[in-house]
Amino acid sequence: MGIGWNFDNSYARLSDSFYASLKLHPVSNPKLVILNKQLASELGLNSEELQSEEGVQILAGNVAPEGSFPLAQAYAGHQFGYFTMLGDGRATLYGEQITPKEERYDIQLKGSGRTPFSRGGDGRAALGPMLREYIISEAMHGLGIPTTRSLAVVETGEKIIREMELPGAILTRVASSHIRVGTFQFIANWGSYEDLQVLANYTIVRHYPDIPNSDHRFLYLLQEVIKKQAELICKWQLVGFIHGVMNTDNMTISGETIDYGPCAFMDAYDPDTVFSSIDTKGRYAYGNQPKIGGWNLARFAETLIPLLHDEEDEAVEIAQNEIAKYPLLFEKNWLRGMRGKLGLFNEEEQDKELINELLDMMKKYEADYTNTFRALTVNKLEMTSLHDQEDFDQWQKKWQERRSRQQQSMEESTQLMKERNPSVIPRNHRVEEALDAAVNNGDYSVMERLLKVLANPFDDSPEHQEYSQLPVPSNLPYRTFCGT
Ligand code: AMP
Ligand code: MG
Repeated sequence: MGIGWNFDNSYARLSDSFYASLKLHPVSNPKLVILNKQLASELGLNSEELQSEEGVQILAGNVAPEGSFPLAQAYAGHQFGYFTMLGDGRATLYGEQITPKEERYDIQLKGSGRTPFSRGGDGRAALGPMLREYIISEAMHGLGIPTTRSLAVVETGEKIIREMELPGAILTRVASSHIRVGTFQFIANWGSYEDLQVLANYTIVRHYPDIPNSDHRFLYLLQEVIKKQAELICKWQLVGFIHGVMNTDNMTISGETIDYGPCAFMDAYDPDTVFSSIDTKGRYAYGNQPKIGGWNLARFAETLIPLLHDEEDEAVEIAQNEIAKYPLLFEKNWLRGMRGKLGLFNEEEQDKELINELLDMMKKYEADYTNTFRALTVNKLEMTSLHDQEDFDQWQKKWQERRSRQQQSMEESTQLMKERNPSVIPRNHRVEEALDAAVNNGDYSVMERLLKVLANPFDDSPEHQEYSQLPVPSNLPYRTFCGT
């Protein structure tokens, strides 16, 4: 019995203006350290076979799987506001696996060696950041947030040079595609009009097949992408996820979260929260994410100008009209999401005020974002810093009255809250603990245990309670680094 590869490489069939085909860069001593068996099965892959010598060679980028077409995708992007040419500098796209359910997923290696887009880089990745991407992306999936997935991590057996020597690793990433805003920016800047049409039509077929084949289809594409991103970033806000590097090359057209570098979850509620050591001006702070989403979408809209109308002025106006709708669309999503977190089914005009009053108090009393909403859900407020605060007591009365002004019972309201407010998130100290055990001691049991809890983050077992504990207070702020 084989591994179960079933490739159909539609991206490779596009013109080679979109990518560079690759030869592989074998590593000396690959060792599979973690495999996502559930995901393998969903992809139609046999976990036993993936763990075999042949399977590991494939996951290490030593041998290409049957039917694959290794390539590096070309893309550009605005990094911290500055436009530049990028492309997969350390990734190999094997191709598209067609699953037993006839779904199509990119299978990509990250850290697999140099490509024509590597610039000065070595094309490699360190073990810690690859395991970190594995944990956080799987946690996001558990939380019900669209995301790329992680199939496996292989240690390469080779050291890579950063500020110090680090063990090298390769992550196998699974995505509904790796088409980014930056892919469109690359083609809009350096490709032909025909290339742009090809890319836009390809994207419609692959991600938005319900768009009718009319003259307006590129406008519909813009609308759908805006809608998807408004939903995605709203979901991040609702769980306190901070992406950390929302450059346009890290924003997918499918609406999946991608490129887990310096990301982390917020503890105490504060819109100014930034973890990334390089985000010194807070461009990608928690509270800025919705606005940056709009900025990135405007860059996407710009790339579509030639397709929106023959007259450039008209096209610009069409694009601007759509972009102008984004803030309201985002807010609608956010209000709906926040109502859910507070157990509210219906809408009242003062809901926004009610929500913002709570958030303001959470900021004032440095209340933990996740645990406060969970405490409201299970009525255990004595665990939070809001407990016994007079203004919070007032607010609670108002909230309980508001909850009673709906058809649904209190039990139904509580049930809704249980489904919307996770008991666990990948707490920074827990992630660090798991990475430390794996990277420094070769002990993957801590990570496996963490992943198990994160797979069902809305459960409430004693184990979940253990993982919802805050770290011991520290004077040092948590810092994350780009996983290069
Ligand atoms: P990222 O910060 O992971 O989104 O990467 C930004 C860009 O830098 C992408 O074009 C990556 O492919 C490239 N890159 C990151 N690390 C390396 C590396 N070690 N070698 C070559 N290119 C890299
Ligand atoms: Mg990236």
